[in-house]
Amino acid sequence: MSECRCMTPPFYYLDYDSQSLGVDETNGRFGEVTIETCKACGRNWLHYFVEYPSFSESGRWYRGLVTPEIVKLITPERAPELLARLPWHFSGGSYFRTTGRRGTGPVMVDP
Ligand SMILES: [Zn+2]
Repeated sequence: MSECRCMTPPFYYLDYDSQSLGVDETNGRFGEVTIETCKACGRNWLHYFVEYPSFSESGRWYRGLVTPEIVKLITPERAPELLARLPWHFSGGSYFRTTGRRGTGPVMVDP
């Protein structure tokens, strides 16, 4: 069985049904938190995007695999911590100069 396209960067937004969870305004940031459900396999991805218009190449996103049970517990403010605690996640954007790579550990969402 080949891996679903939601497991291999780059990702394409039309492959997902998106549900906004709101905005994380911690520390004055404006992090957009979304649950993206893969149309092909049904996996739930917690997606976090933030950028700082006053800094060039500051856009970054994280996406991590979450269960439907966890989805119910997510708040925008807790999303960065949750992503950092997952066994792994994808990250990308102009800040990282990548269209997506797999990683672990800290989630850097402040300028
Ligand atoms: Zn998938």
